[in-house]
Parts: sequence; C-alpha cells; structure tokens
Amino acid sequence: MYSVWFCTTFGVPPTMYHKLLSDATFWAFLFDIDEEFAEASRAEKCPSCGCRLHCANYPRKPRGPRDLPDEYRFRLSFCCARDGCRKRVTPPSVRFLGRKVYLGVIVVLVSAMRQGPTPRRVRKLTEVFGVERRTIYRWRDFWNERFPKTTFWKLARARLVPVFEIVDFPRSLLEAFVHAADDRDGWENLLRFLSPISTTKGLEIKVSDDRGRPAEDARRRV
Ligand SMILES: [Zn+2]
Repeated sequence: MYSVWFCTTFGVPPTMYHKLLSDATFWAFLFDIDEEFAEASRAEKCPSCGCRLHCANYPRKPRGPRDLPDEYRFRLSFCCARDGCRKRVTPPSVRFLGRKVYLGVIVVLVSAMRQGPTPRRVRKLTEVFGVERRTIYRWRDFWNERFPKTTFWKLARARLVPVFEIVDFPRSLLEAFVHAADDRDGWENLLRFLSPISTTKGLEIKVSDDRGRPAEDARRRV
C-alpha cells in the first residue's frame, strides 16, 4: 500500500524538499494556523478559574530553514490574568513539536527519510538538513518508543488504522497525509493531526482513568 507513495514521494532526493522549506509563504501559512489555535485557547479562558488569559509567549530559537519569519522567534502561549492563579495555557502548534529545537516539519521529514526500503543515510541527512547525528537518533527513539505509547496515538489509531497501513513512525503518517514534496494541504493536515503532541499534556502516557475508561482530556484532544 505504501510502496507507491514511497516511490513517488519519498524516493526523491532530500534536496527536493528545499523548495517547500525555503518558501517563506509556507512558514507564514503555518503561523496562521498557530494563531487560529491560539485564538481558540484564549476564547476558552483560564481552565482553572475562568479568568481571561494574557499573552505570555515563549521565546524560541528554532533550527531548520534560514530566514524564518520573525514570528518564529516565539511560541504562542498565555497565562491567567488573575493574581494567585497565573495558570499557563499553551495551545497546540503546527510549528513546534514540544520542546524540540527543530521545527516539527523537519523532525517528521528527517525521521521518515531514515525509514523505509531505501533509507537515507544519516550522513546525507546531516549534510542536507544540518541536523546532528545524535539528534536524529534521539528522534528515532521518540518515534519508536514514546510516540506509540502516548494517549494521543492510542486513541488516534482507531481512526487511522482501518484506512491506512501503519508500518512505522513517522513514515507511515507522512505517507498517509502528504502526497508530494510540495503538498501544502497534506502538510497542514498532518501537522494539525499531530498538534496535540506539541504540548506536554499531549505526550502523556496515561491511557485510562481509575475505572479503565479513556481519560476525558485525552479524548478531547484527539
Ligand atoms: Zn486562572
């Protein structure tokens, strides 16, 4: 099932992705989606006390493409305006995957290129994307060991597995959503799908409450 997409999409040299990754409008497009997530979080107000939320963005120095828009110097975040509460609320993101310093697109793309019948060599990926070898191995461990155990995936797989063949992460996800190197809509869908794991809570490994039911939070986030 995956072989056709793999040959047509992921058989291309990594440099083919440079067109997308060097396109400033692509990064602006992802920022717009993050703003949409942020607006939704702000509208919900503080989850602890119901007060309004103040802007409290995190400074970031993401690695990946050069000449990123200025908006990439921070991750959108809020904190409760009420003294004594100040609860932090960080919306999901299609740009930042948790605390990883590389942008989510790079984490997914480089990790996927290491997989499959004709994996790209780490040396080549290091050259093209400027990602250190040990970082690539750390991402591999994340996708192999941590991601399948998350509440997010345990719930999301019920929707995907009947439709797509999941062989390994993140390659199978990339193939399921993105159908060409410059498939912007596909990237949007994939990054929106993965956005719950861009927050600390989304990476929780808790799978059920005390009565064995899926946790409410996790259910809402998928
Ligand atoms: Zn509050």
